[in-house]
Amino acid sequence: MMTTNENTPTNENAELVPPCFACPKCGQREMDHLICDDDGESVACQTCGTNYAVTQLD
Ligand SMILES: [Zn+2]
Repeated sequence: MMTTNENTPTNENAELVPPCFACPKCGQREMDHLICDDDGESVACQTCGTNYAVTQLD
């Protein structure tokens, strides 16, 4: 039985952001690969390098 590896790209336990926060370029939704700015209005995708704005839903 394989042990869980944090560096494994296909992590079944990865936390996913809502679809509206997903990277518009590559569709990345794993929180580990999306770095949110301090203002919470922009996200940097660590998978493809795209920076994009997100709309907060109140
Ligand atoms: Zn991306």
